[in-house]
Amino acid sequence: MSVIAGISTPNAPGGIAVIRISGDSALEIADRVFKAPNGKKAVDMKGYTCAYGHVYDDGQLIDECILTVFKAPHSYTGEDVAEISCHGGLFVTKKILRAVLKNGAEPSGAGEFTKRAFINGKLDLTQADAVMDIISAKGDTELKMAESLRKGTVFNKITSVREKLVKILGDLSAWADYPEEDIPEVEPDVLQSELNDVKSELESLIKGYDYGRILRNGINTVIVGRPNVGKSTLFNCLSGFERSIVTDIAGTTRDVVEESVKIGELVLRLSDTAGIRETSDIIEGIGVDIAFRKLDEADLIIAVFDGSCPLCEDDFKILEKLQNKRCIAVINKSDREILSDEQIINKYIENTVMISAKNNDGIEKLQSAVENIFEASEINFDNGTVSNERQKKCVDTALLQINESISALESGVMLDAVTVLIDEALQSLLELTGEKASETVVNEVFSRFCVGK
Ligand code: GDP
Repeated sequence: MSVIAGISTPNAPGGIAVIRISGDSALEIADRVFKAPNGKKAVDMKGYTCAYGHVYDDGQLIDECILTVFKAPHSYTGEDVAEISCHGGLFVTKKILRAVLKNGAEPSGAGEFTKRAFINGKLDLTQADAVMDIISAKGDTELKMAESLRKGTVFNKITSVREKLVKILGDLSAWADYPEEDIPEVEPDVLQSELNDVKSELESLIKGYDYGRILRNGINTVIVGRPNVGKSTLFNCLSGFERSIVTDIAGTTRDVVEESVKIGELVLRLSDTAGIRETSDIIEGIGVDIAFRKLDEADLIIAVFDGSCPLCEDDFKILEKLQNKRCIAVINKSDREILSDEQIINKYIENTVMISAKNNDGIEKLQSAVENIFEASEINFDNGTVSNERQKKCVDTALLQINESISALESGVMLDAVTVLIDEALQSLLELTGEKASETVVNEVFSRFCVGK
């Protein structure tokens, strides 16, 4: 393959920078720009060894560098690779890259090094996704999840499911194609139990997906309540500064204000909505409609009630909307005499906390309630969990086909039709790992990467 080169370190000044060169004649190109004082050539170096020297452009010294050599197939891309580590200035790094390009390399595209690793069979598409997940991880759990994906937990599970499906398809076609041979009939009961095994393996792959998504993107959290219960005060208290307008006049938060707040490893993406109440004000009414819509999209709802007065009709309307949703009820204004009925709220919402947003009192109880709801302990990422929408869609499609094939068997449909459904499930899984993905899908995966990765 042609030789590609790119800067693998960030586009910013730093201690060192690395220019990566990969391809059939990567080491020859490195030798054209890099000179070791002892005359040692990159092509003669063993893999995983370094040399000290200088990089020149047309005989002119650019920088003092270290050259690291990796020999195919034992490199990141699976090809011969040379990495030049130089002083981390932007100008000097770009000048070295230009010298490398002048001597026969082509500039690497986004994710092209990892794409070559994929083409050369060093990793599958789920492991390529993992590389990007490791780079963008913001906390320990996110990193653990990405690392497990990189190790191949999802790939291995898909491989095992794939082998089961291929065996089932083999049995079905042998029986259908050679009826005169003495091949035992495929027993629907046995087939059904094999398909049920596949089904539960696929289900386990998507079990931790929601938690992973929440870790990466933050918890889409909506604060709701009727006007004047203290939503904006709580929002400001959580976000640490005055963003929402806090007044005694009901209906002052007319649209949606947003902010991100970190709680331990979790990030709450908070939206403070307009107070929900019956209103004849058109603008306020639009805000109330947005608030209701936001409730349906939310990962978490914080419902605020004014503890200093009894529950009213608007409070009950909100409570009705929140049944069976992931929700925490906050009874605010605990600095005053409490007149609202916590037990009634409890009938609708299991988690309740008493706080005074104004005095910043009880906020830690609210934080623990959030952490309890999103506790990751029951999810073992080492069992394999899909990590992005593309992977999830492939497993969902496969699962749908498997479920349909199980129902088809139950209703006595011809085995030919069942074969078609199982084959479609198999195709989805091959797309997931990249063994049969279209070029568009592969390009889409690598477009998320930077040029040096
Ligand atoms: P929102 O309409 O629900 O957003 O309510 P605001 O946050 O604008 O608060 C309405 C009023 O209640 C303001 O005067 C706040 O100062 C007051 N308030 C908010 N939280 C508390 C609290 O914990 N205790 C008391 N006593 N007053 C509060």
